[in-house]
Amino acid sequence: LRLTLILIFFAVTFASISFVFYSIEQALKWAEPVIVSARENPPNTSTTFALGKRNFFEALLEEGITRQDANSVIAALKKTEFDFTLLRPKQRVTIERDYKDRPVRVRYGWDKISTYLARRLADGTYVAGRHEIPTIRKTVTIAGAVESTVYGAILKLGEEVSLTAKFIEIFGWDIDFSSDTQRGDTFVLILEKIETESGEPVGYGKLFAGQYNGSSVGLKRGFHFDHPDKKHQGFYTENGDQMKQFMLRAPLNTLRVSSRFGFRMHPTLHRRKKHNGIDYKAPTGTPVWAAADGVIRTAGRSGAAGKMVVIDHGDGLQSYYMHLSRIHVRTGQKVSQRKAIGRVGSTGRSTGPHLHFGLKYKGKWINPRKKKFGKPKKLDTALMPDFQKIIEELSPVLESVAASIPPLPKLSAEPEIQGEADAPFSEAGSD
Ligand SMILES: [Zn+2]
Repeated sequence: LRLTLILIFFAVTFASISFVFYSIEQALKWAEPVIVSARENPPNTSTTFALGKRNFFEALLEEGITRQDANSVIAALKKTEFDFTLLRPKQRVTIERDYKDRPVRVRYGWDKISTYLARRLADGTYVAGRHEIPTIRKTVTIAGAVESTVYGAILKLGEEVSLTAKFIEIFGWDIDFSSDTQRGDTFVLILEKIETESGEPVGYGKLFAGQYNGSSVGLKRGFHFDHPDKKHQGFYTENGDQMKQFMLRAPLNTLRVSSRFGFRMHPTLHRRKKHNGIDYKAPTGTPVWAAADGVIRTAGRSGAAGKMVVIDHGDGLQSYYMHLSRIHVRTGQKVSQRKAIGRVGSTGRSTGPHLHFGLKYKGKWINPRKKKFGKPKKLDTALMPDFQKIIEELSPVLESVAASIPPLPKLSAEPEIQGEADAPFSEAGSD
């Protein structure tokens, strides 16, 4: 009996101790969630991706946003100046999600300085706005000498590709940079450079003056004039002739393409054949502009020409744009010079992306390089004194900067291979 009592005592003691431990364990288990919810929510997570070739709605769905949220984000952006027709594949989107995986912030990086932000409100709708980082504008001169192409010279100077647009802005009516430039040509631009406060380059602002001195184009020099009538604002020569002319020298940014006009071997027929236009070899998607004001006569597929746009400029003159990948205009639509009418492509009889540009005058193909249309407009004599002041201020700057451009190294005795700009166009066959 004594032994039994001792055993019972131990058993009871053990059970009691076990119960106490069990109770403590349970108490801890119950307490745990309380401790967790007293902490802050887990931090938001964010993902960043490029838009790519998707539209914005598709991109949001592919990144796991619900249809409803995607619609709400887009509805909020539509209330801002966000332009859904100008989205580019390289633009980046950042989605910030909370611990419940709800997109609380959707940020759309428009360019280096502006961002659109859509914020989720408590009721699940979104509100959006545009944000810009502060920038500084400095007036600078950019000058250089051409070794093979102006594009190459720009890159060598450490400038940005967007500077090519400034050359077109002032010289687009006079110079085809894919064929008119020669080794040793020099250029000077006086313009605004835009930077962030930390000195990061953003782009270029106003162009005040520029000159291009080339062995085949001669000396071209222009000054910007803030004409009181907005439609006459732009560049004028020292004599007061407007640099803008009836027809652009080429219907695309020629700093980034190569071209050739005239006879050449037809790649599929293997015989010499008259080539009725200029081929500009350019990456698919390069914007193609209306060479002059006019009315769209054709916009659509046309056999070997592929996707084609024809513009009627009046007085028997029409311009042709072939092998496009995309067309942005409709038949009957009025277009003004430099309006983007489509994109370079390789549709129709073509073996590589290029633009075939042709001009027809009174029913016959003509060489766009050999004929000038219209006369330059003159600045009113009453405005000449104001314009003269600008010339007096900027002309000496152009001259002194041009004089300080270091000469190019001498070429070796070996004849150098011609630059890309002069290479005959041989990849694509087009009629
Ligand atoms: Zn062609």
